[in-house]
Amino acid sequence: MGKVVLGVTVGVAVAACAVAALVVGRRVRSRKKWKRVVGVLKELEESCETTVGRLRQVVDAMAVEMHAGLASEGGSKLKMLLTFVDNLPSGSEKGIFYALDLGGTNFRVLRVELGGQRSNVDPDVEQQPIPEQLMTGRSEDLFDFIASTLHRFVEKGNDSVQYSITKELGFTFSFPVKQTSVSSGVLIKWTKAFAIKDMVGKEVAGALQQALARKGLNMRVAVLVNDTVGTLALGHYHDADTVAAVIIGTGTNACYWERTDAIIKCQGLLTTSGGMVVNMEWGNFWSSHLPRTSYDIDLDAESPNPNDQGFEKMISGMYLGDIVRRVILRMSEESDIFGPVSSRLYVPFALRTPAMAAMHEDDSPELTEVARILQDVLDIPDVPLKARKLVVKICDVVTRRAARLAAAGIVGILKKIGRDGSGGIAGGRSRSDIKMRRTAVAVEGSLYTQYTMFREYLHEALHEILGEDIVRHVVINVTEDGSGTGAALLAASHSSSGSVQLISFYTVGASNNDDGDEQMTETSTTDRPGVARTEEEEQEHQRMAHVTYLLNAIVDNEQMKFFIFPKLPTQCDNSQSSMAANIEVTMAETHADLKILLKKRPRRLSKLVGGLQRLKLTVINLNVTTADEMALYSISVKIEEGCRMNTADEIAESVEQVLLGIQQEAGFS
Ligand code: ADP
Ligand code: MG
Repeated sequence: MGKVVLGVTVGVAVAACAVAALVVGRRVRSRKKWKRVVGVLKELEESCETTVGRLRQVVDAMAVEMHAGLASEGGSKLKMLLTFVDNLPSGSEKGIFYALDLGGTNFRVLRVELGGQRSNVDPDVEQQPIPEQLMTGRSEDLFDFIASTLHRFVEKGNDSVQYSITKELGFTFSFPVKQTSVSSGVLIKWTKAFAIKDMVGKEVAGALQQALARKGLNMRVAVLVNDTVGTLALGHYHDADTVAAVIIGTGTNACYWERTDAIIKCQGLLTTSGGMVVNMEWGNFWSSHLPRTSYDIDLDAESPNPNDQGFEKMISGMYLGDIVRRVILRMSEESDIFGPVSSRLYVPFALRTPAMAAMHEDDSPELTEVARILQDVLDIPDVPLKARKLVVKICDVVTRRAARLAAAGIVGILKKIGRDGSGGIAGGRSRSDIKMRRTAVAVEGSLYTQYTMFREYLHEALHEILGEDIVRHVVINVTEDGSGTGAALLAASHSSSGSVQLISFYTVGASNNDDGDEQMTETSTTDRPGVARTEEEEQEHQRMAHVTYLLNAIVDNEQMKFFIFPKLPTQCDNSQSSMAANIEVTMAETHADLKILLKKRPRRLSKLVGGLQRLKLTVINLNVTTADEMALYSISVKIEEGCRMNTADEIAESVEQVLLGIQQEAGFS
């Protein structure tokens, strides 16, 4: 009996030990899995890191690319398109104006009545979806549909369709257009869901104008703009300090007010105001400083436009939800914290940004909204609280990066135009010299207006990058429906058109000028027929091709002769020496402007550019002016990391050494 009892006791003890071992084993395994998931999150956080230092690098890169895009056609991933909008609404506009807005989520028709004195703009708006078959059919059908909608809209209002006075119409057309005047432009390509073949390469406003005539509408297409320009116009109508507009909705883009003399690629551009709005197409911005993750790389590769719109793919509403989906998928594959992998997680864009935002902003203690969305949208039921918290964290990391990069982009614009408190990239003035002017930026788009966390992170980053003293002077104004209303306002401010004069429309980079005696011989040592270039070689090749572009822009401009006797802040005047070059260097943070005046010599410029590169000075803009025997090189350079020179004097000296070297090598006297 006693034996039996003992046996039972031992048996129970053994069983208990086995159960305990099982439980411990499971715990260890689940801890390992949890660790893996936390590892995925940690890796995401690290690769999305946007320290202020990194954001400042993005700011610099944006300003540099803006310069390059203005210097020559194709000089940068930023297209920096001319809009020919040379004045912005001032608030004094009067009368009734119409606008059409095509290219956003909806097609809209608008009418505004302006009373002067910055009167309230309270547009009548009618919204219409574009029937799907019209998006891929014939252009005539699309424009007839637009004209009919406008016709009905006008009839409903108090205006007569048969009015004797021509009404002015603003047309917001948010597709890439090569503008030829403020009221005309050629469609480069369709984007979004549109694909009307016969329209590509055709004049857009003309097609609309003809459709208006077919409907008997006495209207003139006064301006053809994109949505950012409309937003800038409305922003400026309400606040005269507005210098830029940014859209952060399904996509993202920005435009700003630029001095015409800074638009180097368009020599001889004259406007009565001295300025023009430039459409940056900033969604395509790219820089190696952007914090890129494996999820971004996959998203890009699987997109219909790989290698395109890199900045947009990290920032805009179209993509944020999908980045989050990809991270959840990876976690789900690496562990079972989300149960078996849901097939919904493999569906591109299954998680839309508004749903992602709702999870991010769920402030209930049990995160019930997160649970609901995971269940309803991604088909993942019964997610434990710990994992729900993880999902919120993923949303936070992705949105924070997006908002902070958008902020860096905005500061990049401010830097380019000298409104960031540093005096611009070529100003050479120190922070303390600058009296910062009040500066307003108009912002539009649901990602910014509807997503509180995004907005707050953007503002926070502006503070961090600009600092308390400067950010006080920078105002972000939300405009409502600027893309449409702004076009009506621009129709008003451009109704007496013809203010933009083109003395000549010489576009740098578009043509070769072989007359100059400075010729670029491409010194590519990496070209091996039949052998593909490495990535590094390809970059170098692209860079050299870009430099060739710039070098081809040899301008022989009489007006620029005054530069020949410049007032030089930092000169290396060696007119006594045999070389007789006059070198002026102005430095501002990571940029320097060089002006080098010397006798014309063949083939020196390419060697000089190579020499600058070796000094770790990257040429971002170059102009050559020749007069008589002399040549003036105006060169903007970026001072790369690892450059040994710290002052303008040191740069001037090194450049002189390079020139001397070239001279000795060539045996010039
Ligand atoms: P569009 O860019 O088409 O002109 P919007 O400016 O309204 O239109 O932006 C729409 C985009 O904004 C949507 O694609 C979506 O990604 C994002 N969005 C809309 N509502 C929200 C929201 N509540 N939270 C976060 N993102 C939103
Ligand atoms: Mg929009």
